[in-house]
Amino acid sequence: MCGIFGVYGHRDAAALTQLGLYSLQHRGQESAGIVSVDEGGRAHLSRAMGLVSEGFGEEAMAGLPGALAIGHTRYSTAGASAIENAQPVLARMRGGHIALAHNGNLTNAVALRESLEDGGAIFASTMDSEVIVHRIARAQGATPEARLASALAGVEGAYSLLVVLNDTMLVARDPRGWRPLVMGRLGGGWVFASESCALDIVGATIDGEVQPGEIVAIDGDGMRRLQGVAPAPVTRCVFEHVYFARPDSVVFGGAVSRSRRALGRQLARECPAPGADLVFAVPDSSNAAALGYAEEAGLPYELALIRNHYVGRTFIQPTQAGRDAKVKVKYNPVRELLEGRRVVMVDDSIVRGTTTRGLVSLVRAAGAREVHMRVSSAPIISPCYYGIDTPRREELVAARMSHGELTAHLGVDSLGYLSIEGMLAQVPSGPDGYCHACFSGRYPTVTPTDSAPQRAAGAPGGGA
Ligand code: AMP
Repeated sequence: MCGIFGVYGHRDAAALTQLGLYSLQHRGQESAGIVSVDEGGRAHLSRAMGLVSEGFGEEAMAGLPGALAIGHTRYSTAGASAIENAQPVLARMRGGHIALAHNGNLTNAVALRESLEDGGAIFASTMDSEVIVHRIARAQGATPEARLASALAGVEGAYSLLVVLNDTMLVARDPRGWRPLVMGRLGGGWVFASESCALDIVGATIDGEVQPGEIVAIDGDGMRRLQGVAPAPVTRCVFEHVYFARPDSVVFGGAVSRSRRALGRQLARECPAPGADLVFAVPDSSNAAALGYAEEAGLPYELALIRNHYVGRTFIQPTQAGRDAKVKVKYNPVRELLEGRRVVMVDDSIVRGTTTRGLVSLVRAAGAREVHMRVSSAPIISPCYYGIDTPRREELVAARMSHGELTAHLGVDSLGYLSIEGMLAQVPSGPDGYCHACFSGRYPTVTPTDSAPQRAAGAPGGGA
């Protein structure tokens, strides 16, 4: 997964982009980058491994002049974590340059890449996103937007894109609308971001979403919006509302804080925990869901698990051993609140089960008498091919074990998941128009045949 942010028509474009990327850090912590275009039409690139706060000192920012900028934060996926896979991608070509920042995962990148390579193309990275750059370079079109539309015809899968083609900023979203992309106004300029929390930080006002299949072009001739890609049934990612997006964002037209709380309330209705004394969240992504659960169940909501904010997401650890140790470093239970109590522990999802298992043993060691695990989404049983970093099916604990086995494996007294129907009824304009393949195994498109999702898209460390 990744975060993208772009500014057109503001003299502090790169500085604003850096701020926006701070707000999108949760969407990717492996690398960050910014491309700007100065008044003379020259493109400047700065990319660095690690966090936004680490990569963009005064010197780097001074090298990014101009009123047009796009930026990217990249999530650690299964493959190589290397600077050549950082984004934005910047390619120079005859007559100018192309820069691109991509959130999502293409499902036919291998085939597209092979056919480009057959034609002599040379790739600088292993990212699926680079395929789009090559296609734009080769595409014909009377306008920049026509050229992008032609490049995207035949590209399948998930993409929210920010592209700079010479002096034109192009913004596109795949016709299924998998990944979010909002737009906003800032003074006389325009701002685009994966999530609205990034518009807030720069003081921009939200001006709606880039629509599925839409291309937006902005340059000296003004803004143009067009249906750039043939329409398809909309399948937005439900996991954005369950886990990925920040709760202070509006995603797919609805507040994440509201849907997360509603997921918790629904969970309390579907899976009550009679006799429990209190509810607590696995912070931070399930705070709102746990609050909803407590409200609906009429139980006290306690801060019984404390998260150390200086430790990154556990999934970023490449090995199982690293992940195990990190649970303890990242969370500490509050004995005072847990000792002798029958507790409901709410989390938004279980993937491998490693974190959950570690947390349950910490909570028990802190004296909890009973631990009732409640999950504000359905069991994850299938990998994602559209940009979320879920592992292969064999590593998905709910795909490997029965409900009874999983209850014993996690060491809980009871385990309750939200139903798929209950989940889809709580997200904006649900239940239709969502992709729930990771929960249902029903993929809305043909999936790559390789079993490793991120790699299958031709993207060891792909453009997600
Ligand atoms: P585990 O028990 O090891 O499956 O970890 C579950 C935790 O991982 C939950 O707290 C989730 O909020 C979190 N989580 C779910 N999906 C992801 C993801 N794609 N990347 C990182 N963390 C995730």
